[in-house]
This record gives sequence, structure tokens and C-alpha cells, in this order.
Amino acid sequence: MTENTEPMEPASDVYKTLLESTKAIPWKIDWKTLQFSYIGPQIEALLGWAPSSWVSVNDWAERMHPEDRAWVVDFCVAQSQSGTDHEADYRAMTKDGEYIWIRDVVHVARDENGEVEALIGFMFDISERKETEQKLLDLQKELEELSFKDGLTGVSNRRMFDSVLEREWVKARRDKQPLSLLLIDIDFFKQYNDFYGHILGDDCLKQVAQTLSTVATRSRDFFARFGGEEFVMVLPETDAEAAKIIAERCQKAIFKLQISHQQSDVSQLLTISIGAGTLVPTHSHDSRDFINTVDKALYQAKQQGRNTIQAA
Ligand code: GH3
Ligand code: MG
Ligand code: MG
Repeated sequence: MTENTEPMEPASDVYKTLLESTKAIPWKIDWKTLQFSYIGPQIEALLGWAPSSWVSVNDWAERMHPEDRAWVVDFCVAQSQSGTDHEADYRAMTKDGEYIWIRDVVHVARDENGEVEALIGFMFDISERKETEQKLLDLQKELEELSFKDGLTGVSNRRMFDSVLEREWVKARRDKQPLSLLLIDIDFFKQYNDFYGHILGDDCLKQVAQTLSTVATRSRDFFARFGGEEFVMVLPETDAEAAKIIAERCQKAIFKLQISHQQSDVSQLLTISIGAGTLVPTHSHDSRDFINTVDKALYQAKQQGRNTIQAA
């Protein structure tokens, strides 16, 4: 009976065939010299650079998208130095100057004394996956834009406001009824974010939006996030006096929340400024001019020291 006395030879042939026929590209870097001691021939089909052109880690770093290079190199070096297996996604440059998304999965190999000896890894072409991810992100953004709800606070968004104002504008003109508009802006909110951080800033915006959305209660009253830390209220069939009462209710509702704002110059608590405007629209008026007028009133409220209501 003939026995195979050299089992390693056929096995390593099998390994070599396997390694060089898979889609993942194997490579090995000697840790001391930082030179490639091996890279799978598939690299040429993927990136166009011949295996012989992969000499040192510099070749690897240089063939990387400039935006990815610094963090990927720093990260991989730090992980390798601490002897931790790791992986990184980055854009590798092809010989034609295009970029392909790669996931590099790295194993840190040690010698018998436990010293780092080599890095052994696989590069995977993940460009298709990245493309799908990007498409999903784009789609999500598109959906948000098509929606009438503000993603952060859950109240109506600017888009919805535009369409409601348009509708109420036409109705008020036809019925010769006063239409009121409130523009509401949080005081010193930049300082709030700077001091408490963006996460608490977002929480604060949600709380303010939820609270203000319950202030006006008639069925056609409308409230929306106008953008950033600004909100807007459309009050149909409401004259200037009634609008002022609603604006005062907004201020009281925010005061009741007792949100501390240590960096505010006007109060220890979070406050708002409000610009208010009222108009019986005619064909000679324009709704954008109306918004601008109310915005100017809001600006005056800020000039007067904030935490105040200013009629246009
Ligand atoms: P003023 O009293 O004059 O209104 O000052 P302000 O700091 O409130 O106004 P400014 O317009 O300078 O700053 C608004 C800040 O609101 C800046 C921005 O960081 C913050 N902001 C806008 N949108 C968001 C958001 O969605 N989340 C958080 N956390 N902050 C936001
Ligand atoms: Mg603002
Ligand atoms: Mg503000």
C-alpha cells in the first residue's frame, strides 16, 4: 500500500488554488519590513495593478481614496500594533483612476513568542453593496422630502405649511376674513446646543414642538416646524387681538415646561420670541410678502431683547 509521505505538498496546492480562485483577494504583509510577501493574482483583475507592483504598505496607502487614507492607515496601524484583528472599508484606486469600495479583513499573525509577525488579510469587493446602501439613503431622503411630517419633531413640516397657507390664503380672500400668522423662534438656541449638546438640543426641540402644537385648538388652526428652531402657526378667521392671545399662550406653555437654559441672557429658563401678523388678503397682496412682514416683526422682537411678542 502506497502512502502519501508528503501530505503538505498536495494540501498547499489545494490551498493555493482555492485562494487564487476565490473572489476575495488574499494578501500577506511582513510586519518588520512592511513589505508584501504575497498578494493574490486576482488583484490585477479587480484594480488593474499587477501583483508585482504591490511592494510595500505605501503602495497600499497610495492607492486609496485621499478622503479615506488618513483614517484607514491610522486605524489599521493602531490595531496592528496592539495585535487586534480588524477590518476597514475604503475606496481603492484602480489603475485607470477610478475607485472601488473594498472591505479589508485583517488577521494579526504572531510568532511563537507572541510578537506580531505578519498581517494576513482578504480584500473583498463591496462596491455593489455600497451602491445599494447609497441608493437606500437617497431614497430615504427623497421620501422625507415628499412627506409632510418633520422627521425630528413629528409635527408638520415646511412643505405642509406652504400648502396650508396657500389654501387658507385663498379662503380668507374669498370670505374676506382675517388670517393671522405667528413666527416663533427659540431664544439663544445656539448657546443651548453649545452648552447642553446636540442630543439634548434635539430633545428640547421635540418638547417645544409637541407643546406648541397643542396651543391653538380650532379645527383649522395649523402648526408646523418652519425650519431649525423656528415654528409657524396659521390661524384662520383670527384677528390681531385673538392672535396676540394665542401668542401669549405659546409663551406661557413654554414657561410651564421649565426647561433650564443657563446660557440664556434673558432668563434661567428657555424662552421664545414671536412675530405676529394679521391680514385680510386681497388680490393685491402676496403671501410671501406677508411671511416676510411677520419675519421682520420677529426680528424686532429679538432686537427688543427677546422673550417677547411683536406685532407686524
Ligand atoms: P436668537 O435668540 O437670535 O434666535 O439666537 P439663536 O441662537 O436661537 O439663533 P441662531 O439662528 O443663531 O441659531 C439657531 C440654532 O439652532 C443654531 C443651530 O445649531 C440650532 N438648530 C437648528 N436646527 C437644529 C436641530 O435640528 N437640532 C438642534 N439640536 N439644533 C438645531
Ligand atoms: Mg432662528
Ligand atoms: Mg433662535
